[in-house]
Amino acid sequence: MTRPFTLLIACLVTQFSFAQSWQYTITLSPERVHVSLSVKGNHTDSLAFKMPTWTPGYYQHIAFPSRVSNFKAYNEKDTLPRNGWTIKAPENFTLEYDVRADSDFVAAVYVDSHRATLNLTGICMYADIHQPVSLKVITPAGWSAATGMDKKGDYFQAPNFDILYDSPLLCGHLDSLPAFKVRGIPHYFVGLGFADFDRTAFINDMQKIISIGVNIIGDIPYKHYTFLDIGNGHGGIEHLNSTTVTFTGQHMDNRETRLRYYSFLAHEYFHHYNVKRIRPIELGPFDYQNGNKTKMLWVAEGLTVYYEYLIVHHAGLSTASECLQQFRSSLMAYETKTGKLHQSLTQASWETWAEGPFGGDGISYYDKGPLIGLLLDLQIRQATQNKKSLDDVMRGLYKKYYQQLHRGYTETEFQNMCEDIAGMKLNDLFQYTSTTKEVDYNKYLAYAGLRLEPGTYEFKTIAHPTPMQQTIYHSIF
Ligand SMILES: [Zn+2]
Repeated sequence: MTRPFTLLIACLVTQFSFAQSWQYTITLSPERVHVSLSVKGNHTDSLAFKMPTWTPGYYQHIAFPSRVSNFKAYNEKDTLPRNGWTIKAPENFTLEYDVRADSDFVAAVYVDSHRATLNLTGICMYADIHQPVSLKVITPAGWSAATGMDKKGDYFQAPNFDILYDSPLLCGHLDSLPAFKVRGIPHYFVGLGFADFDRTAFINDMQKIISIGVNIIGDIPYKHYTFLDIGNGHGGIEHLNSTTVTFTGQHMDNRETRLRYYSFLAHEYFHHYNVKRIRPIELGPFDYQNGNKTKMLWVAEGLTVYYEYLIVHHAGLSTASECLQQFRSSLMAYETKTGKLHQSLTQASWETWAEGPFGGDGISYYDKGPLIGLLLDLQIRQATQNKKSLDDVMRGLYKKYYQQLHRGYTETEFQNMCEDIAGMKLNDLFQYTSTTKEVDYNKYLAYAGLRLEPGTYEFKTIAHPTPMQQTIYHSIF
């Protein structure tokens, strides 16, 4: 009986005495980030340091390793023996290197004399070790830094490298829109200077968008959320408690522009559920060297497009006809390309690493994904007399796979969840995800009393809809 007890004590002492500290200090200057990593209490003989080759959320390789120069590893006495970035590691040591920071792009690293966009996947090397990391940023005078990470003293804190890499920083002379709360949780919108628009009206609308998004899942899993706005550019990248977005605030008095911005912001926001927490099983743990391929980006991205259309509409920021027009745009983008004849949704997802996010010669899951989302929602509503919907599927996945099992879902598990909620087999519908079969839209649109006008792809209401068709229509539109 004493032996296990002694061992336990020994383990505790061992863990305590081997507590490590990994502290990054990054110093910004135009087109360059100087990186210093101070490791204390290391107990591994050698450490192989690596740079990620991609940023989760952007499924393309980025040549981050080739942007590293001036790599050095030393302790208080000596330069350390090394082979490339693999070092013979004493208990305490320091790494230093520079990173080229001239890529002005939402997924990369950029510093100029006014601002910095810091994706830490392009800055911080990792080794195969699970370890809390802290990070200090030394900026030009007068700048500040915004990020989703919490701060202790001068250091931002991440419990592991996954969270560090999930927490980009925006630095510069930052401008903040008024903070707002949803269900008591603060939300921030930080940028580098916005165009002249009605900030109060915008924030009120953002609060509506987030409330509607939250109501779909019914739970807020973060303590604070930050929109990091890099201004000009294209696209955004989603994270657990922040998102990097490209928003200038220009032409917000134009209804079409405003709707486009709101859809985009709703999309990036809803991703903190769909893809960051409700996720394909392959998208975690991340392989920062090789990337993670999945056939389910049509759910992770495509259904996020479905929800961006609906969230903005249910927030009262688009009319039914504007919402239907968004579906029509997706439909035309999909139906007017020949890619639909040779590439399925699951193939488009799998091939995205080679073809780029918008599909190359094939199709884009951003186009066909929301259409399948609509058909799925219609089918579930029709099968359950509108008592259940796609929202129940998303909530079910969130509860089962994110909250209970702490993992992603497989293709089969996703279909099973849809079928459980619908109370019926959905093979007819799911064949549109894995084959190139021509989609019979009208079969499903009829459940909401809708049909497609041949040739124009316009959504029309049928004559004399039944009460159930009207109920389903009004639940969505
Ligand atoms: Zn997306």
